[in-house]
Amino acid sequence: MQEILTLVSWPQAIVHIDGDSFFASVEQSLNHSYKNKPLVTGSERGIASAMSADAKKLGITRGMPIGLIKKNYPECIIVPGNYEAYMLFAHRMFSIMRRFTPIVEEYSIDEAFADITGLRRTLNANYQEIAVKMQSAITSELDITVSVGVSLTKSLAKLCSKFRKPNGITCVKGKHIHILLQKTPIEKVWGIGPNISSMLRKYGCQTAYDFTQKPLPFVEEKLTKKEVEIYKELRGEQIYKIDTNKKESYQSISKAKTFNPTSDKNEVFAQLVKNIEEATAKCRKYNLAAKSIVIALKSQKFQTYGQKAKLNRPSADPMEIVHIANELFETCYRSGKIYRQTICVLINLCSNKNMQLSLFDQNISIEKREQLFLSIDELNKRFGIGTIHLADSLNARHNSLPNFNIPQLEIPV
Ligand SMILES: [Mg+2]
Repeated sequence: MQEILTLVSWPQAIVHIDGDSFFASVEQSLNHSYKNKPLVTGSERGIASAMSADAKKLGITRGMPIGLIKKNYPECIIVPGNYEAYMLFAHRMFSIMRRFTPIVEEYSIDEAFADITGLRRTLNANYQEIAVKMQSAITSELDITVSVGVSLTKSLAKLCSKFRKPNGITCVKGKHIHILLQKTPIEKVWGIGPNISSMLRKYGCQTAYDFTQKPLPFVEEKLTKKEVEIYKELRGEQIYKIDTNKKESYQSISKAKTFNPTSDKNEVFAQLVKNIEEATAKCRKYNLAAKSIVIALKSQKFQTYGQKAKLNRPSADPMEIVHIANELFETCYRSGKIYRQTICVLINLCSNKNMQLSLFDQNISIEKREQLFLSIDELNKRFGIGTIHLADSLNARHNSLPNFNIPQLEIPV
C-alpha cells in the first residue's frame, strides 16, 4: 500500500487566490454604506447574480427572482451588476500578484494562480508569509477579502483556498498533504465530477487521500489521462503549469470533448451540443454573451474541420446557438469519417447587460429563456453538470472522456 506522498516540502510553491463573494464585495468596496449588509447584484436582469456573505446567510441563492428577494428580505440591498468595475478590480488584483512574481495565471474574473517557487530569499519571507503579504496587499488596496491557498501544485492550491473561507489562508507543504487530502471528500477535488466521484466511491475512495493511495496502474486502467494527471497533482507532482497568457477577462470561452471514436453523426452532433451547453453555462456564470461562435470537429487522424459564424445578437442561450451550430456542423461533417473530438468556442464576448434586442426579437421569450437557463445552471451546480440538459445532447451522455482545464485552441477556420 502506498503511503508517503512526497518527502520534499516545497519542490515548487503555487498560490491560488479566490475573491470572496467577489461581485458583491466590489459593490461594498465602492460604497461603504453597503458594508456588512445583505446585498445582491443583478437587479437589471430580475434575478440574483451574486450575493454578499450576509445575503447568503439569509438564504438568498444565485438565480433567485429579485421580486421574491424584495418581498421576503426587505432589508436586502439590491443593485444592478457593474461588470466594468468587476473587471477593473480583477485587473488590479492580478497586478498586485504580479508585484510578487511575473508568473501569474488569470484563471477567471476572481481567481488566479501564481508561481512563487524560489522567491523566499528575494522576498525575505517564507512561502506562507509571501501569500499573507499578497492577501493583505489586495485587502488593503482594494478593500475586498480573498481566500488564499498555497501548496505544491495548482490542484492542491485550489483545495487549500477553499479550505478556509472567507478571508482565509491555508498553506500546505509536501509533508502535510495527506492531512489536507484526508479532509477532502473526493467530489470536492477540482476536475473530479459527480460521475467519476461515484465511480471512485465504489472502489473505496471516499476522500481525495483514498484516491491518492490507489496504485498508479489502477488509476491508469480505470480512468482517463485527465484523472491520472489530477492523481499526480494531488500527490504533489506538478502537471499543470501556470499559464501566463493573458485571458483578457475571457475574450473567448472554449469547451472540447474527447470521446470514444465514432462515425455516428447523431452522436458527434450530440457531443458538440454538450460543449455548447457547457460553454454557454460558463458564459452566463460571468454575465457574458458571445457575438460569434466557432465549431470544430477533430477526426481520429487528428484533422480538424472548423466553421465560424456571427450571431445576429450577442447570446449565451444554448438553444439559439445550437440552431446555428447545426448549420455549421452540416458543412463540416463528412459521413464515414471517424471523429474523436468536438470543440465549441464562443468568441467576441461582451457584457450581457443592456443587450440590444432587435425589433424582430421576441423580448419576452428571450427573457423567459434566460431565466430558465439560470435556474438550470443552479440545478446543475447543485446536482452535477448535466443533470438537466438539452435533448440534443442525450446521445452524448454515455460516451465521454472527462476533460480538465482545456487550453484555448488554435482552430483553422
Ligand atoms: Mg470567488
